Amino acid sequence: MIKENIERIRENIKRAAKVSGRNPDDILLLAVTKTVDIDSMTCAYNLGINEFGENRVQELTKKYDIFKDSVKWHMIGNLQTNKVKYIADKVKLIHSLDSLKLAAEIDRCAKNCGRIIDVLVEINIANEQSKHGIRQECLDEFIQKVSIYKNISIKGLMTVAPFVENSQKNRIYFDKMRNLFVDIKNKNIDNINMLYLSMGMTNDYDVAVEEGANIIRVGTGIFGKRHYN
Ligand SMILES: *Cc1c(COP(=O)(O)O)cnc(C)c1O
Repeated sequence: MIKENIERIRENIKRAAKVSGRNPDDILLLAVTKTVDIDSMTCAYNLGINEFGENRVQELTKKYDIFKDSVKWHMIGNLQTNKVKYIADKVKLIHSLDSLKLAAEIDRCAKNCGRIIDVLVEINIANEQSKHGIRQECLDEFIQKVSIYKNISIKGLMTVAPFVENSQKNRIYFDKMRNLFVDIKNKNIDNINMLYLSMGMTNDYDVAVEEGANIIRVGTGIFGKRHYN
């Protein structure tokens, strides 16, 4: 099942990339592996998936001990300040930077590891009460403040769009995200390199790619329904 799922998603990425005039190879299919068992992850790995996204520190570190650096790890979930230290030496990219307090701690931990940590700024694009992320009107000021940290490098933006049955309904939000992304890019701010636009999940990744996403985060679409215990 995982094989057919991945093939179908890759086909959809190809089609959507064409619509937005891009090369499908420039779009990362990030496999969201929260709650997913090691066998299923290994299966995906053997089908060419080598970047995994987790939303809990404990689960990420546990799985890291198994796969180590044979794959790349992304932290996509809300990150508590006191847990940054456990993943600072393991992650390729943190998608969920949304506070200055968190930025300060990521910077501190990165320095301790002797590295620079790449991050995305999470935007609450639909201003949903239940969602993390900063509001779009606060983005400029936020980025200016984060840009002073030497051991953090902002590489782009991320959003979790509203849950919708019809993915077309999220097109306006993905369009807004792309505009924010391009605006910041054009400002050429020191220490900011807008490379990644992380948006689109199982229900709406096709529209997200059409609107410019170059990282899509797909869990259910690859592994099936999640089982939480
Ligand atoms: C769970 C999760 C996803 C994947 O969701 P699916 O609908 O299963 O594809 C993507 N992004 C974040 C931040 C998540 O927590």
